[in-house]
Amino acid sequence: MDTRQVSQSKESDNKNLLNYNIDELACLIEALGEKRFRAKQIFGWLSKGINSLDEMRNIPKALRQSMADEGLYIGLPFAESIQTSKDGTVKCLFRFLLADKDPDTGTEVESVFMKYEYGNSICISSQAGCRMGCKFCASTMDGLERSLTGGEMLGEVLAMRNLTGEEINHVVIMGMGEPFDNYEEVARFIRLIHDPAGYDLSLRNITVSTCGIIEGIERFAEEFPQVNLAISLHAPNQELREKTMPVARKYRFDELINAARAYTEKTGRRITFEYAVIDGVNDSKECARELASKLKGWLAHVNLIPLNEVDGREYKKAQHSNVKRFKEVLEKEGVAVTIRRTLGNDIDAACGQLRRRG
Ligand code: SAH
Repeated sequence: MDTRQVSQSKESDNKNLLNYNIDELACLIEALGEKRFRAKQIFGWLSKGINSLDEMRNIPKALRQSMADEGLYIGLPFAESIQTSKDGTVKCLFRFLLADKDPDTGTEVESVFMKYEYGNSICISSQAGCRMGCKFCASTMDGLERSLTGGEMLGEVLAMRNLTGEEINHVVIMGMGEPFDNYEEVARFIRLIHDPAGYDLSLRNITVSTCGIIEGIERFAEEFPQVNLAISLHAPNQELREKTMPVARKYRFDELINAARAYTEKTGRRITFEYAVIDGVNDSKECARELASKLKGWLAHVNLIPLNEVDGREYKKAQHSNVKRFKEVLEKEGVAVTIRRTLGNDIDAACGQLRRRG
């Protein structure tokens, strides 16, 4: 790991204005000798996705200047490469430049914009790389570079809105990284984007997906009961799950299911289990029956995902007939199930591949 880069980015965290909530901005502004009420105005401007301090037209020039003198900046990422699909999906490799704006340094992550009947959605990354090691996933192949800050996650949404010119009304934290391996900053992001003085996104329009970190699930049930939660399960039992997901050795299948069930009881909210269907690995009728027996009778929903085949990974996507059979078994057992629609097929590149190609 390049520690120079990590320490540099830490240094820039408190210079990136997008990381600040209104109270923190108020303290900052007060320290610069200005009135606290300016904080709300500045926060509003930042949430519009402006690129430079000078765009804050109702903020006195002297304050803009003293913020710049402090090295404060707006940390929107720069679009390094963009792929657009016929169905309107836009996949973007974003690079976060540090305060010095040197284009040769900084961190790259992927974000994807998608159009659905119910509105526009963005899938954002919470970390550059990942250390969870799932065997079918491209994002984890080079390990974790670093976690993103809440302001950087907000930057992904704002930069994507600028890029597409479209409103974004749903956010899913399902890109690169494990959100509960970066809990504090994911929590910061949710609070920032939900703030009515800023982007004002409803909590019900946010979804977080975890590979199954139980402490995170428990804490999330307490702190964000209105945010949707998805768990990547990908197997009907411990033995099989361990084969593709190393994290299962620490958070065992039965304990995970119990934590998920407790979550639904506590919050009254449904939980989604993601299940990437892999040819010859987890796509049999027996797997479907076993999964149904574990999820039957409570607020669980299964989302079957056709596997994205990743260069350098051995796994192949299951045949469509097997995916259909899997769905039918679950339905017959009374478990709610959907097959995820695949968007952006013609721009291939499963999550994590764009960054690796870079
Ligand atoms: N770390 C989080 C979120 C990121 S991945 C998590 O594990 O949930 C988002 C989803 O895509 C997860 O369900 C993940 O298991 C799945 N995924 C990863 N690689 C995939 C691939 N090659 N094909 C299909 N789904 C994949």
